[in-house]
Amino acid sequence: MCSDSFHYRNGTLFCEDADLVSLAEAHGTPAYVYSKNAIARRFEAYKSSFAGLPHRICFAVKANSNLAVLATLARLGAGFDIVSAGELHRVLAAGGDPASVVFSGVGKTAAEIRFALQKGIRSFNCESEYEIETISQIAVSLNRTASIAIRVNPDVNAVTHPYISTGLREHKFGIDIAHAEAVYRRAAKLPGIAPEGVSCHIGSQLLDIGPLLEASEKVLDLAARLRAAGLPIRDLDLGGGLGVAYRPGERAACVQTLAERLRPRLEGLGLTLLLEPGRSIVAEAGILLMRVLLTKRNGQKLFVVVDGAMNDLIRPALYQAHHEILPVREAAANVPAVTADIVGPVCETGDFFARGREIAPVEPGDLLAICMAGAYGFVLSSNYNSRPRACELLVDGAEVLVARKRETLEDLIRGEAF
Ligand SMILES: *Cc1c(COP(=O)(O)O)cnc(C)c1O
Repeated sequence: MCSDSFHYRNGTLFCEDADLVSLAEAHGTPAYVYSKNAIARRFEAYKSSFAGLPHRICFAVKANSNLAVLATLARLGAGFDIVSAGELHRVLAAGGDPASVVFSGVGKTAAEIRFALQKGIRSFNCESEYEIETISQIAVSLNRTASIAIRVNPDVNAVTHPYISTGLREHKFGIDIAHAEAVYRRAAKLPGIAPEGVSCHIGSQLLDIGPLLEASEKVLDLAARLRAAGLPIRDLDLGGGLGVAYRPGERAACVQTLAERLRPRLEGLGLTLLLEPGRSIVAEAGILLMRVLLTKRNGQKLFVVVDGAMNDLIRPALYQAHHEILPVREAAANVPAVTADIVGPVCETGDFFARGREIAPVEPGDLLAICMAGAYGFVLSSNYNSRPRACELLVDGAEVLVARKRETLEDLIRGEAF
């Protein structure tokens, strides 16, 4: 449930060639630990699967926006999918090419649009007519042309958690595909607007690629109709959303199968395929390393209290997400498992990583690794309970980069006044 990059050697869990006991001693806990080579391998899987088709893999920055992660992907030739000016700032700081950036999001501010135009991004994925008119006005004032795609809502039911399903008509995202053609025709008449793409993103953590293929048929149809009407459509953006295996027995959506199914539909059309994967690039490349503070029994229940908390990794509380949890020192085979709730110190009942989980018995000071924490982990962390945010470590072989320092108590009060 962790990638190949996390494995036991002589009973100790390693990330690549770095042992997690030493990492915890040197850098403290809780700590996010990422395998650089796992990130690269997942990105290369996308690249090789779509080789030969005109395409661009635009990593969804919101899944993991650490500069070292972005720089790793930029060097491998990734484009980026951003949802804010802040994410664009990060991409540029990490050496990303603005010409390979697409800007998604249902509510872009005028300042964000101006910033993106000035930096020369590839295109805007637009989600309302008002947004397109705003982009037109700003583009004219800057004497530029904005390439846009309309994010259509294909009314496809992506079977996933309701909070991360986005492709139904009742969701806030996109423009209803039934009205899209008329919106494109109006957009084409606006000054400073080049309607060059069709885009969609139907949801996240899709384990079945069926809905994605269904959506792609609908947007391909639309692209063909728009081209027949004389619009200069060059990009087909199918968004992100490929799911990963969080649970034992779950099977990740397969990039290669997606490519095999899409290839015959796209070959020879002269369209560039854009994909915006986030989770499927970084999830398995990261763990959250934490130390056991204590164990206690309340009634029948055994609680393992760790030094990481919901402010560090909110997925279990927010999405009822399952994460496998591994002991950093492998338990002896003959020790019977215990059933425990693994919880953080935050004053919320929702502050748990696992409930009723079978684990090897632990003691204060033991280290645990929460698997598959590389996506929507650190980026969703907060300072709740005035807890400094964890450090982020990027491992490359035996080398360890402190990709983000652990926050200090001073960091917690920076910018405040009284
Ligand atoms: C969140 C998001 C993505 C990335 O989704 P993953 O499930 O992480 O691959 C891509 N595109 C858009 C528009 C998004 O909102």
